[in-house]
Amino acid sequence: EQDISEYRKSLAIRVSGFDVPRPINTFEDCGFSQQLMNAIKKQGYEKPTTIQCQALPIVLSGRDVIGIAKTGSGKTAAFVLPMIVHIMDQPELEKEEGPIGFKELKAGCEIVVATPGRLIDMLKMKALTMSRATYLVLDEADRMFDLGFEPQIRSIVGQIRPDRQTLLFSATMPHRVEKLAREILTDPVRVTVGEVG
Ligand code: ADP
Ligand code: MG
Repeated sequence: EQDISEYRKSLAIRVSGFDVPRPINTFEDCGFSQQLMNAIKKQGYEKPTTIQCQALPIVLSGRDVIGIAKTGSGKTAAFVLPMIVHIMDQPELEKEEGPIGFKELKAGCEIVVATPGRLIDMLKMKALTMSRATYLVLDEADRMFDLGFEPQIRSIVGQIRPDRQTLLFSATMPHRVEKLAREILTDPVRVTVGEVG
């Protein structure tokens, strides 16, 4: 009896927000291009994980999302696959242009992956600008807070256009991360999988 209730708890899925798109069961349900489906297959992903089933359709609908699920649950693909769709929907970049003008690379650049400290340095040096960034992911939000990056996160977010899509993923949701999420996300859908602290 005890074991069953523990098991159910471990599968707990909670979704809150207005007009939330329904979860999907397969990657085919996502309407991905054949090219993207091939890449998913090649990666060896046969079916979406629980957080992916819940979060993919919401992120793909353009909504802001707070995704909370434990380490190893597959959060990355929940924001990277829609990121690729988002990029494919944009007009093609001119050379040396990008949502982010990454001068150091001497070419346009569609995705920047950075720690907050490094990104701030690059912005200060004017090595890149965020003027055309439209899709922002704060991954490992709890870890970034633990490392004292809150001021840097606020500064970066303040430099990105307010009509962006913002996603926040975390293994845990301490109060101060919750507070930041409320400030920087717009009408977010919150997806929690499992028992998280
Ligand atoms: P998290 O960010 O939640 O800690 P990751 O996104 O790093 O988790 O994923 C953990 C592992 O699971 C990675 O090796 C990833 O390639 C794999 N993975 C993710 N989604 C799937 C899937 N749908 N099917 C099989 N493996 C997956
Ligand atoms: Mg992760």
